[in-house]
Amino acid sequence: MQQLIDRLVDLSSRDPLTGLSNRRHFELALAREVDRVARSGESALLLVVDIDHFKRINDSHGHAVGDQVIRAVGEALAVTVRPMDLVARIGGEEFAVVLPNCPAAFGPQVAARVRQRVARTSVPLLDGRAIGVTVSVGGAFAQQWVRSSTELWMERADRQLYRAKAEGRDRVCIEPSEVPSVSAEEKGLLFGTSQFQDFE
Ligand code: GH3
Ligand code: MG
Ligand code: MG
Repeated sequence: MQQLIDRLVDLSSRDPLTGLSNRRHFELALAREVDRVARSGESALLLVVDIDHFKRINDSHGHAVGDQVIRAVGEALAVTVRPMDLVARIGGEEFAVVLPNCPAAFGPQVAARVRQRVARTSVPLLDGRAIGVTVSVGGAFAQQWVRSSTELWMERADRQLYRAKAEGRDRVCIEPSEVPSVSAEEKGLLFGTSQFQDFE
């Protein structure tokens, strides 16, 4: 019985095409991350990834090849990030990656690695040819020390994705980091220790 329950819980959080987390699971994980960041002040990055000109792939090669491309992109994402990061398929040809504990300097690097890995991916066709695929990536760091909403975080990352598309696709745009993060000690100095304790 327990095994059956575990299996059902697992199924309800996965996308059947790619085996990645589904949108529901992603939203729960994102909400958890917002809480954690607000409590710890740790840095977390959200990436949204959208396949470039995917309609063309469907139109020229058919839906089944389109599905294979989606699967290949999902795999490229999954092998590029750390085990602690969550990769999800959140829409038809859209993915998201939640990277907990991701320092600001590491963000652009990991996003670039994701983009390059996909650009090196090719999907074989039945006639022996293969097709390439690229993605555009938008990213935003969680707002530290602010109990911000998951919707706002998504919106900020989406805005960067939109920018990456507008600037020509196959590229990464990450929202510029805010003022360098303030350490707990500095907060104590700024706000006075007693007030600072109210944050926790
Ligand atoms: P852009 O570079 O601007 O993202 O261009 P695009 O063609 O990728 O744009 P858009 O997001 O509008 O197109 C997505 C297409 O993906 C539309 C839809 O027919 C197709 N699609 C959505 N879900 C699936 C799926 O599960 N399988 C397949 N094969 N196609 C899908
Ligand atoms: Mg799309
Ligand atoms: Mg697209």
